[in-house]
Amino acid sequence: MSKIKRRDFINGTLMVAGASMLPYGCSNPKILDTIDPLYYPPALTGLRGSHIGSNTHAHARSWEGKSDWGPTTDLKEEYDLIVVGGGLSGLSAAYFYRQKHGNDKKILILDNHDDFGGHAKRNEHHIDGVMRLGHGGSQTIQDPQIYEKPSQEMLANIGVDIEGFEEAYDMGFFNRHKLEPGTYFNKEAFGVDKLVKHPYCNYPNFMEGLPKASMSHEEAASQAPLSEIGREQLLRVLNGGVHLLDVPEEELEAYMDETPYYDYLKNTLGVNDPGVIRMARYSINDWGSGGTDMLNMTLARDGGALGFSPVGKSEMVLGSKYIHHFPDGNASMARLLVNNMVPGVSEAKNGAEIVLSKFKYEELDKSGKNVRVRLNSTVVNVQHGGDPKSSDEVFVTYINDDKSYKVKGNGVVMACYNMMIPHIVPSIPEEQAAALKLQVKVPLQYTTVGLKNWRALSETGVGFFMSPGNYHQSVLMDFPVSIGGYEFTNGPDDPCVLQMVSCPLGTEGAPLADQFREARHKMLVTQFKDIEEEVRGHLSGMLPDELFNFDRDVQSITANRWAHGYAHPGPGDSVKIGRKPFGRITIANSDSGGYPRADIAMAMAYRAVNELG
Ligand SMILES: Cc1cc2nc3c(=O)[nH]c(=O)nc-3n(C[C@H](O)[C@H](O)[C@H](O)COP(=O)(O)OP(=O)(O)OC[C@H]3O[C@@H](n4cnc5c(N)ncnc54)[C@H](O)[C@@H]3O)c2cc1C
Repeated sequence: MSKIKRRDFINGTLMVAGASMLPYGCSNPKILDTIDPLYYPPALTGLRGSHIGSNTHAHARSWEGKSDWGPTTDLKEEYDLIVVGGGLSGLSAAYFYRQKHGNDKKILILDNHDDFGGHAKRNEHHIDGVMRLGHGGSQTIQDPQIYEKPSQEMLANIGVDIEGFEEAYDMGFFNRHKLEPGTYFNKEAFGVDKLVKHPYCNYPNFMEGLPKASMSHEEAASQAPLSEIGREQLLRVLNGGVHLLDVPEEELEAYMDETPYYDYLKNTLGVNDPGVIRMARYSINDWGSGGTDMLNMTLARDGGALGFSPVGKSEMVLGSKYIHHFPDGNASMARLLVNNMVPGVSEAKNGAEIVLSKFKYEELDKSGKNVRVRLNSTVVNVQHGGDPKSSDEVFVTYINDDKSYKVKGNGVVMACYNMMIPHIVPSIPEEQAAALKLQVKVPLQYTTVGLKNWRALSETGVGFFMSPGNYHQSVLMDFPVSIGGYEFTNGPDDPCVLQMVSCPLGTEGAPLADQFREARHKMLVTQFKDIEEEVRGHLSGMLPDELFNFDRDVQSITANRWAHGYAHPGPGDSVKIGRKPFGRITIANSDSGGYPRADIAMAMAYRAVNELG
């Protein structure tokens, strides 16, 4: 395919032209031993993440209170453990259960998506015969040293070589190719399309090896397409920082925790220009939950927001080098977990080999296997067979291909979005249900773009673009990691994957939960064709016409839409109250730890499994 043509996308999914060559695009594989060998979701492009249809039944349950799913087939399947949700937490729960009770235990993992991994999703782009990987969500093993011991042991057992990333991550890539951070000001928000080789903020610092901007602050401020006042303020911001605060050193930390970032921006740095405020609001993106208007100074500073000098030095707070990244992000961890538990899915023997290993989805749900992963299956009801205090059986009803099925477990770990649990487990105590409903999710979108070459980026000398006026507020070349025979792009003539990050925000200043709701709604009604147009306009405006032609240079787009993205804790003790065990039902997912990280997802799985006894 030389171009992305509108007609190739139906409901945001790339139509399969020749099933023998291209990935199978089935959204409803039949259950029980009958998944087509061509079923291969990672290579699907178009609207992915929470793909079309994935939330239909869950929304019918939670929004409309639907409980009549038609006749339910009792599959007469019995499991020691049923896990609801096949993300990193659910997969880890299955792993820990086996560690504790033995590999002969029967486990069923149910997930509503057509692929396992939850937010940890693999994106494959097949460009001119070359496969390039990207991550659809959960991207990096951040600070592996703080993973709890059982999780660290689990990672080692499944084949993750943490030290190996030191070699796999090409620290010299950006310097070698003379790629710096920059900012794209678009015409719609800033009156003119302009690229300046300066990030103005510290957000890009998480990209290890990306050099700091060579342009001076004075030059950067003068090149910004702002009013004269705006440029003056921007220069003040670039030269400013916490040293301007009249606060004793020993009180600084507490002061920053208590002071809203916007107060600092407005009162200390004297910013009121709408252009600079806009740059500030979008200067932290996915490192925060929501826009900077809702953050305190500490969180804003730690995420790399505008106004903490010196720009370019790492004022972002990272505990360790941000290099522990598989080419498909944390999807490799999900694959390794499945590989460890389900024989026959892959021949990989370690984390390096998993990257290029052929993954056989048809092996995921075979009768006779001790662990089965059942996709496209939305759990709509979980209830004990009798009194939760004494019952040792739990019935789980799920919908697959619009039909209702029932299975039985001796215990259930709910590793799904926690706010959904009261709808699925209607008998859960009232106080707990109320606490669970307070756990919210931050919407986020990672769009990966398969580029045939990156000459345009090379010529502009920018590898990481802040884009405060756009739907995607940053665009970056992916992490330069080569591992297990997989090679990161070699040079500008080679295909590569661009990562575009979109943090849809709600109305500035509104309470966070309202902002998330508003942004989630916007996200859910945005069609793939609109996203494609955004990407087209963004890249075409940002890159020089003589070097970039969207129809010629873009092979594929995968928009990983996470309407239910980061975990965001509810107030007070609600996280702890919400995750209490209820009879033979226990609660995991990163939501139950109140923090959007893989280590938390795993730690919560460990706890939930141990609570089952
Ligand atoms: C864009 C993005 C980037 C991220 N980057 C990082 C990162 O770099 N490092 C990091 O540590 N963390 C990152 N995170 C946080 C991420 O949430 C965790 O790393 C981890 O993937 C969470 O795993 P989980 O299993 O708790 O939840 P999820 O991944 O959300 O998995 C839960 C699964 O349960 C399914 N489910 C829900 N309801 C039902 C139902 N009724 N029936 C069946 N299945 C159901 C969901 O669809 C989902 O597949 C990122 C998150 C996002 C969204």
